[in-house]
Amino acid sequence: MKSEELFNRAKELIPGGVSSPVRAIRPYPFYTQRAKGAKICTVDGTELTDYCMGYGPLILGHAHPDVLDAISGQARDGWLYGTPVALEIGLAGLICGDHPSIDMCRFVSSGSEATMSAIRLARGYTGKKKIIKIEGGFHGAHDAVLIRAGSGATTLGIPDSAGVLPELAAQTGQAAFNDAEAIESLLSGDNDVAAVIMEPVMGNIGPILPEDGYLEEVRKITREHDVLLIFDEVITGYRLGIGGAQKYYNVIPDLTTLGKICGGGLPIGIFGGRREIMDMISPSGPVYQAGTFSGNPLSLSAGISQIRCLHENPGIYNRLSEQTRMIGEGIGERGNGSFVSIGSMFKFFFRDSPPGDYFRAKESDTEAFGRFWRKMLEKGIFLPPSQFETNFLSAAHTESDIEQLISAYVSCL
Ligand SMILES: *Cc1c(COP(=O)(O)O)cnc(C)c1O
Repeated sequence: MKSEELFNRAKELIPGGVSSPVRAIRPYPFYTQRAKGAKICTVDGTELTDYCMGYGPLILGHAHPDVLDAISGQARDGWLYGTPVALEIGLAGLICGDHPSIDMCRFVSSGSEATMSAIRLARGYTGKKKIIKIEGGFHGAHDAVLIRAGSGATTLGIPDSAGVLPELAAQTGQAAFNDAEAIESLLSGDNDVAAVIMEPVMGNIGPILPEDGYLEEVRKITREHDVLLIFDEVITGYRLGIGGAQKYYNVIPDLTTLGKICGGGLPIGIFGGRREIMDMISPSGPVYQAGTFSGNPLSLSAGISQIRCLHENPGIYNRLSEQTRMIGEGIGERGNGSFVSIGSMFKFFFRDSPPGDYFRAKESDTEAFGRFWRKMLEKGIFLPPSQFETNFLSAAHTESDIEQLISAYVSCL
């Protein structure tokens, strides 16, 4: 069946036809047959160069041979035991060794689960109720964080989804990104805040980069108010380099959440931090947390293999940054928008200058983005189908892919 027929059938069986809303491209999304390296082949027989890369996890590209060997080797020995496996120690050793903030970590099955657990842990550890998140920050699709601001720089939470209790949303305060004073004023007016959770580089509405000194200031303020700082590095972990944003910016949070790249493209979430905080997690402490698929051997094997490969080829990061720099240079100054990049994350915003926060990002011309996105697809380029999703490079993208991308941008913008 072709993509259009498949989607029509899917809409009868699956709400909106998709398993995650961003995939519901209009009038219908393409269905993927297979993928290798930087290329995706659709069921309609089209080959596309992929700059979505599974929304971030695939930093080595699709079906990387080392990761494939790790997965298939493990699969032959079984893929779920319900017992501890040595692989847990292997991946935990890498994660703790690479992240200055992490003495201990626990494995879960998604980034959403990681942030949910980290928030519960922060509440359990501090005995305080509220959290503060950044407007437009995305930490997965669970109730405590599925909240954006109504308006203004700092407001009380308003649910972003039907079904989120307003009573719960009221426990989540909001501050604009790059506005440390907003956090200071929320914290000085309220001593019932357990944690501030933030993406150090906003990856789900951008990238939006932290201004100089912002993360340091947030670190200082949270410490002064005895509030835990949670860096959600589900995207930035192993993306901005080994050690993620905390190493890149040298700002050390109390808790860190990871996912995406750490599972080599299989489902994973990880949360970790200082030993005395992590010791609160059951069974060593009173904060309950559990999962049938947590620490499953396939995700662990794939994650270890991908992270080892990054360790063995640290030049990947410089090469990727150089490529995004070339893309920015190739696109050049444009009247209709602005290019933002960091490491291997990049985006062209349809607004006059790079946004510093959610509200400025939201001013982008999303209709112009939609037209541009479709033209790029016709040129064989698959970008994430939203103005607010980051584009990702992988080690599998070649010089000629980058040249093709630049010329497509130049002709479609
Ligand atoms: C993707 C993402 C999540 C959610 O991870 P899932 O594995 O999709 O549940 C959480 N936080 C950030 C910053 C993310 O980018």
